[in-house]
Amino acid sequence: MTGTETARRRAIVVGAGIVGVCSASYLQRAGYNVELIDPAEPGSEDQCSYGNAGGICPGSCVPIGMPGMLNKVPEWLLDPEGPLFVRLGYLPQAMPWILRLLSAGRRSRVPAIADAMRALHQGTYDAYAPLLKEAGCEDLLARRGQLFVHESANAVSPSDFGLTLRRERGVAIEFLDEDEIRQLEPALAHRFKSAVFLPEQGQCKNPGRLVASLAGAFVRNGGTLLRERVTGFETGPEGIAAVTTESGRREAGTVVLSAGAWSKALAKSLGYRVPMEAERGYHVQVTGADVGLRTQTIWSERKFVASPMEGGLRFAGTIELAGLGRPPNDRRADILLAMGREMVRDLEVGEVTRWMGNRPGMPDSLPVLGRAARHRNLIFAFGHGHTGLIAGAVTGRLVAEIAEGQAPSIDLTPYRLERF
Ligand SMILES: Cc1cc2nc3c(=O)[nH]c(=O)nc-3n(C[C@H](O)[C@H](O)[C@H](O)COP(=O)(O)OP(=O)(O)OC[C@H]3O[C@@H](n4cnc5c(N)ncnc54)[C@H](O)[C@@H]3O)c2cc1C
Repeated sequence: MTGTETARRRAIVVGAGIVGVCSASYLQRAGYNVELIDPAEPGSEDQCSYGNAGGICPGSCVPIGMPGMLNKVPEWLLDPEGPLFVRLGYLPQAMPWILRLLSAGRRSRVPAIADAMRALHQGTYDAYAPLLKEAGCEDLLARRGQLFVHESANAVSPSDFGLTLRRERGVAIEFLDEDEIRQLEPALAHRFKSAVFLPEQGQCKNPGRLVASLAGAFVRNGGTLLRERVTGFETGPEGIAAVTTESGRREAGTVVLSAGAWSKALAKSLGYRVPMEAERGYHVQVTGADVGLRTQTIWSERKFVASPMEGGLRFAGTIELAGLGRPPNDRRADILLAMGREMVRDLEVGEVTRWMGNRPGMPDSLPVLGRAARHRNLIFAFGHGHTGLIAGAVTGRLVAEIAEGQAPSIDLTPYRLERF
């Protein structure tokens, strides 16, 4: 190999959440010598990838911004228990992002967004399979489906826009009545009268262990994990010449920016404007609680999810816009716990852990994925919002294809930063 070729096959991945770890793993499989840099331990609480609801759903194609949202947003903003909460002092900063969210939710734009979500998510099981096998953690993924429960018997019409988006993209859908809900999930409170069941969806029972296991396999296979913060980039004629960290500079071949919600500031340091907000989400986990819930279940009216996890039952949800770096507001987590008690039967509240994580939120629910326009050796892989666990492995596979200069397995046009 020539010196240039050796340099080209060196890759630095910035950020070791699910997206960074999968990108590093796929680059390694493609023969790259990879350094994965993150001050946080992969799979630790500091990462959004640690505390999510675990959904690994190939049929996820309904964006956050949807028609009709404009009418609901003012009500949500005023309701401290609503699914979207903006800290008052942060509202002026959040407003441009909220306007973009509403714009992306127009009926004319949503179908194309749904296509791009489906394209990215459809291959999730295939993309994870070799990584889970290599890491010896195939037990983490269960394909038990996903259940959306409603309090009203007539809540969902088969012509509902969200269901139509799914159906038109080949997602299997079943409708359940009250009796069928009880048969499927006897642990649910008897208040739910109708449900939509998506049988092909799956769940990871411990997303933190997933990230840690994949990172462990990456290191065992010769990858380097550096527990440092990237502080900036040195540029040169080829793009990024070096990545600087707290302890020095590291020469770059290919560079992947996958630092989740922190990617915005790093991209800005290179002159790229990214309309991203940290969509803060919360979970409460009732340790040891096993009420017998088997399926990841979303209470549709209240917009939160109950997920059976390895360590207990996890209730997760909420979008809070308050800026990156503000301490968590435990009240948000407590609201989830109160709603969780109304959702499942016989929930003994023993030891409860609370967690807040920063979703890297783009207003159109699509990540930024592809080569940077002005730095040819830089690949963007961030902004996965509510679906980064679903899209993590597919993104990693695409990152390796981009690095190799191969034709990507899906059309990357919808994910370009230049769409904004
Ligand atoms: C309550 C909740 C529920 C969710 N449920 C689901 C779900 O069911 N399914 C799903 O698919 N998604 C879900 N998500 C979203 C999902 O968790 C995220 O999309 C995903 O974790 C994003 O992964 P990431 O690797 O981009 O970011 P992260 O996991 O946040 O990782 C980013 C990493 O970058 C590092 N970093 C930051 N700055 C630097 C720097 N300067 N130098 C080096 N490293 C740096 C950070 O330390 C961090 O480790 C949920 C999120 C929340 C909050």
